[in-house]
Amino acid sequence: MIDIGVNLTHASFEPDLDQVLQDAFGAGLEAMILTGTDLDSSQASLALCQQFAAEASHGALYCTAGVHPHDADHWDAETAETLRELLAHPLVVAVGETGLDFNRNFSSREGQIEAFEHQLELSAETGKPLFLHERDAWAEQSQILRRCLDDIGQAVVHCFTGDLQALEDYLDMGLYVGITGWVCDERRGTGLAEIVSRIPLDRLLIETDAPFLLPRNIEPKPSTRRNEPAFLPWVVRKLAECYQVSEFEIAARTRDNAKRLFALPVGSPG
Ligand SMILES: [Zn+2]
Repeated sequence: MIDIGVNLTHASFEPDLDQVLQDAFGAGLEAMILTGTDLDSSQASLALCQQFAAEASHGALYCTAGVHPHDADHWDAETAETLRELLAHPLVVAVGETGLDFNRNFSSREGQIEAFEHQLELSAETGKPLFLHERDAWAEQSQILRRCLDDIGQAVVHCFTGDLQALEDYLDMGLYVGITGWVCDERRGTGLAEIVSRIPLDRLLIETDAPFLLPRNIEPKPSTRRNEPAFLPWVVRKLAECYQVSEFEIAARTRDNAKRLFALPVGSPG
């Protein structure tokens, strides 16, 4: 299994990060992609990947580098330059997370669009895929993406929680779709669970978005609300139900997809 979205530089992992990693690999994860949400977390994520690469005897950590729409108002002339340097590193496998979030509008809409367009350029320039975030901004985001679809390499819409119209639009653009434990939520995830199997198995990716979005189907319930990459199998279990295939098939197909999209040099086939 490959978890394509973990926020391992989040403060909640500071006290026991080694254990969290050990548990993740113990649960069958082969690789994780750490999410960079601003310059600091992108740099910290790369540092963690490098440290791990130097010490590790198994498993692999990679990361993204980008500026989340919430931080878009902090974009300035130096930001692109710093991201460009980060993206030159082989352990940095995607541009992002980037996109539009009109749900909370922590940054202005104009600022979000500007930062997004700069990062689309970085993807086109570096050939690295996009790690997209979108919330309540599908129409605008889709319009911008379609304009530069020929220039950008590939992209994943991470933590997809939208409706069928948005899903079909992203699939029509040939994008990959990342599914988190949102789909396991018997309150707000039922709509997603009904449509998720429309995603062809060669476009599906899985992620925990840890420490957020603890899957609600975990038995027995963990003692804290903190999500961990070790809980990824619960997302796989729910997806296997939705697709009516084996958990092994979900794990294997999403692993192959992650390897293909992010050009990961991990492991042998299987
Ligand atoms: Zn996100």
